[in-house]
Amino acid sequence: MNNFQYKNPTKILFGKGQIENLTNEIPENAKVLMLYGGGSIKKNGIYDQVSKSLSKFEVIEFGGIPANPEYEVLMEALDIIKAENITFLLAVGGGSVIDGTKFLSAAALYEGDEPWDILSKNIRTLKGMPFGTVLTLPATGSEMNSGAVVTRAETKEKLTMGGPGLFPVFSVLDPEVVKSIPKRQIANGLADAFTHVLEQYMTYPVDAKLQDRFAESILQTLIEVAPAILKDTSDYKAASNFMWSCTMALNGLIQQGVPSDWAIHMMGHELTALFGIDHARTLAIIAEGHYTYNLDSKKDKLAQYAERVWNITEGTKEEKASAGIQKTTEFYQSLGIKTKLSEYTEDYKGTAQIISKRFEERGWKGLGEKGKVSPSDVEKIVEMSY
Ligand code: NAP
Ligand code: FE
Repeated sequence: MNNFQYKNPTKILFGKGQIENLTNEIPENAKVLMLYGGGSIKKNGIYDQVSKSLSKFEVIEFGGIPANPEYEVLMEALDIIKAENITFLLAVGGGSVIDGTKFLSAAALYEGDEPWDILSKNIRTLKGMPFGTVLTLPATGSEMNSGAVVTRAETKEKLTMGGPGLFPVFSVLDPEVVKSIPKRQIANGLADAFTHVLEQYMTYPVDAKLQDRFAESILQTLIEVAPAILKDTSDYKAASNFMWSCTMALNGLIQQGVPSDWAIHMMGHELTALFGIDHARTLAIIAEGHYTYNLDSKKDKLAQYAERVWNITEGTKEEKASAGIQKTTEFYQSLGIKTKLSEYTEDYKGTAQIISKRFEERGWKGLGEKGKVSPSDVEKIVEMSY
């Protein structure tokens, strides 16, 4: 097992009725900016619940953060934070609203001239403006981690940021919010969380037995609850298992002491930036090509995954590894997610070259757990995903 230092300071308020308790988690005298997305919270009652629990605070609202939060929109919110002397941010939404809020947390205290530098120059945030979240869509794990992904519409770039200053102070996880989520977003949440686990697990073995079994148990739980939650989003038992699995998939725990990959996400982000494809679906497009291309270096884990998660006991190590890849593709498809780029756009030719050129220009010479997936490998992997 590799060395690690681990601290996750986010307080979780999990379960029915927990939204009303957020009032106790925000500092007295705070001036709050409540941030949300395109308006789903006004239709499903979450807005009313949150407003009620904020009644003792001075609150300003900023709605309209789009899916794949845009820098241009967030800069409008930054102006409000500064003009109104906001001291606390509250994100009410899915990964997009939470990530947008993380950007604002960082940008509010950033001393440079151009907040985009936080993303383009990879500036880590050691201290941000404090913020909490009310999660409305289980998927990203953003509610309990310190990373964010922000898009610049003008240049079609989608970049990551983070740092120890960007953990939420608290996050409210009420599985009852799941009942209003459209099936497409439920499928996305399952696929995103599943791939988060794969990115931290499908590497080379370092004999981290507990991390492996944590990862496998999250995968198995997602596989088990997927049909139930897709069938009936008001199934509270399925919703609560789905929600906590998504959080645990990317709150840092399973990543400690093991190598992690993240190449699927880095390639996937480009597909969202170029074509506007939902984040989770871009991962389903890239995964099979990535694992097939890197089968040799990931063989041991792929075979272990096939055995332990999918009960594949027959065949050689290579055969098991290949069967594990196939099962992964079938899992995405069982959620109703298409796994080839050409099923989303007719305009896919040349995508592999565009992406590998972008990585080359950014100096991303080696992705993956060994830092060996070069821009020319990326080109081949994206081509395999057409
Ligand atoms: P999202 O983009 O936050 O939301 C997708 C859609 O779901 C929105 O249209 C939203 O509508 C709707 N929605 C959310 N909650 C709902 C509810 N309870 N009922 C009905 N509709 C609801 O989706 P996401 O998958 O959570 O986030 C994706 C983003 O997170 C991407 O930008 C991705 O790159 C990023 N990401 C971040 C991390 C991380 O660790 N930080 C990890 C993976 C991915 P409204 O806008 O109207 O609310
Ligand atoms: Fe993701």
